[in-house]
Amino acid sequence: MAAWEKNVRKTIPYTPGEQPDRPNMIKLNTNENPYPPAPGVTKALQELDADRLRRYPDPAARVLVQALADYYGVTNQQVFVGVGSDDVLAMSFLTFFNSEKPILFPDITYSFYDVWAELFRIPYERPPLDSEFKIRTKDYLRECGGIVIPNPNAPTGIEKNLAELEEMIAGNPEVIVIIDEAYIDFGGTSALSLLPKYENLLVVQTFSKSRSLAGMRIGYAIGNERLIGYLNEAKYSFNSYTMNGAALAAGTEAIKDDAYFRETLQKIINTREWTKQELHRLGFSFLDSKSNFIFASHPKCPAEELFQALKQADIYVRFFNKPRINNYLRISIGTEQEMGALIRFLEHYLGENL
Ligand code: PMP
Repeated sequence: MAAWEKNVRKTIPYTPGEQPDRPNMIKLNTNENPYPPAPGVTKALQELDADRLRRYPDPAARVLVQALADYYGVTNQQVFVGVGSDDVLAMSFLTFFNSEKPILFPDITYSFYDVWAELFRIPYERPPLDSEFKIRTKDYLRECGGIVIPNPNAPTGIEKNLAELEEMIAGNPEVIVIIDEAYIDFGGTSALSLLPKYENLLVVQTFSKSRSLAGMRIGYAIGNERLIGYLNEAKYSFNSYTMNGAALAAGTEAIKDDAYFRETLQKIINTREWTKQELHRLGFSFLDSKSNFIFASHPKCPAEELFQALKQADIYVRFFNKPRINNYLRISIGTEQEMGALIRFLEHYLGENL
């Protein structure tokens, strides 16, 4: 090791899902939306004026903040936007998890949480999910430095009901509870309705999944004005111009087209329910997903083997080589045709190899 390397901040980074780009591939590995963004998004991007790029964008991202505030019926001061919910969550960890006590999140959850905790030197503990992969409320009713929970959880897809989440939020008035609702639009019940009751609640959502804009990188947090004020102070101490002009225009158009949003969501939900039936028919077991993915395991075929076989056929799903979940595949919901092709492949493969 070179002498200077002793002074380097070393991190073990998050590993994002593969981003292969092969003709005719079926990409079901990063929970992207299979449908294009709302038509207004394309139009707004076509109309962008390159000359505007001489100027910095609006640091307060007002058009987008206003569109979100109108949509959710909150004030502009209750909305914080960032470069994907990863950016919003990282900023929230930095801002709110500043205690000596450990923050809490499940052992099986979004694998960025421990990466941020390590990066920011935040102590943490990971209460294990129960044997059915559910979050146990009682594990979170204790002294801690904060809580972060995805609802539905990832990669399990399981939703925690609002009454139990409320118990956690009400039981921890001295710390901030972050509910990461990356997948809430696919059939879950949002904790946004609890905001008027609890000052310590921050709800984080994203345009990456339900609004088909993963490539644009837009996420947001909604909370009471004081929380959002603290988040903005941290942001302006880090990078004033997080949102570029294209993201502001695209995000605003996506929010405005509610009919398109609901139509694509319904298509994905219908395809998910169809896929559940088909996977069940093929002998898979899985948890009841309320998200745009299914976390499934087959009693006779190891997940890693299936993962490799699917990859050979240019069908990409996600496999996590981690304790407790290394016999599961996380399969994102694609179009009806894509899921049909997946099921046909599995039917054939399992038929030949079992
Ligand atoms: N939270 C969860 C639970 C996720 O699965 C993801 C997607 N990887 C994110 C947050 C971040 O998504 P994005 O930064 O694209 O908004």
